[in-house]
Amino acid sequence: MRGAIRSAETHGLSFERLDAAAMRARFPQFAVRDSEVAVREPRAGVLDPEACVSAQLERAVQRGAELRRDQPVTSWRATHSGIEVETPRGRERAAQLVLAAGAWLPALLGADVLPLTVERMVLYWFGAARDPESFAPERFPIWIWEHETDRYCYGFPALERGIKVARHHEGELCAPETARREVSDAEIAGMRAWVEQHLPDAAGALRGTATCLYTNTPDYDFVLDRHPAEERVLIVSACSGHGFKFANAIGEVIADLLIDRRSRFDLAPFRLARFAAGARG
Ligand SMILES: Cc1cc2nc3c(=O)[nH]c(=O)nc-3n(C[C@H](O)[C@H](O)[C@H](O)COP(=O)(O)OP(=O)(O)OC[C@H]3O[C@@H](n4cnc5c(N)ncnc54)[C@H](O)[C@@H]3O)c2cc1C
Repeated sequence: MRGAIRSAETHGLSFERLDAAAMRARFPQFAVRDSEVAVREPRAGVLDPEACVSAQLERAVQRGAELRRDQPVTSWRATHSGIEVETPRGRERAAQLVLAAGAWLPALLGADVLPLTVERMVLYWFGAARDPESFAPERFPIWIWEHETDRYCYGFPALERGIKVARHHEGELCAPETARREVSDAEIAGMRAWVEQHLPDAAGALRGTATCLYTNTPDYDFVLDRHPAEERVLIVSACSGHGFKFANAIGEVIADLLIDRRSRFDLAPFRLARFAAGARG
């Protein structure tokens, strides 16, 4: 709550504070406790990630990018004449390399460079048990709820698949290749119990589940930095469950670093060095 308010005040974003009574009047879908408070940001919204990624790729191609689909990088190495990238279809050379491989970054980097963890997350979609119209986007917001100290659930209004609910973190650590993709009855029962207590009218039929992978840095903030041993290689780990909305801004930062070798943003918060033993203090 404090973080959201500080960010809104720092950047001049409009917001309003709601106490439990105001929440019950405006958003009765949430079974809040008397002691709970909320911050509402009228300009918050929803992105369609598939449409966003397609649009970004399309624009990149229009500006001369070549996309090599289904050609995984198996390894890379720095040489005096450039960076060599190995793929099943052969070797590629370039002056600079950007590694932005999400949950697959540890395999391309090594934990000694960046101690990332990969965390299996589960998404759930429910139909409404009562009053389905009240979960329509016009009446029900996207939300994130710190329902216990440092424990979060978040969700979306009823879009295509139903009312989406998920936990933020608290997932199983894994590797992309070994992540458990099926969702157990116990997991479904656990989330249903949470919904029944906190969003009772949303606890209808389960409409679907999906699994996804967070790639976490030790402090859950991004890494936008040069490789410590090879400055022609840029490392982009912008996830920890909250990086998608920043994709365009991060793209701009990385393009500036590649072309101008500097960015108009202060990148100190995103430096790798903050994880160095000494830096952690
Ligand atoms: C359940 C869930 C919910 C989320 N919700 C939100 C949200 O509401 N808002 C938000 O802002 N963020 C959210 N995020 C976080 C967001 O998805 C990530 O921050 C973002 O996708 C990270 O982008 P990325 O480009 O670093 O990695 P990715 O999107 O994972 O992209 C990495 C790409 O690299 C490719 N790749 C991997 N290895 C190789 C290789 N060896 N060679 C070639 N290509 C390779 C992969 O195929 C993939 O396409 C969520 C994430 C999850 C898992």
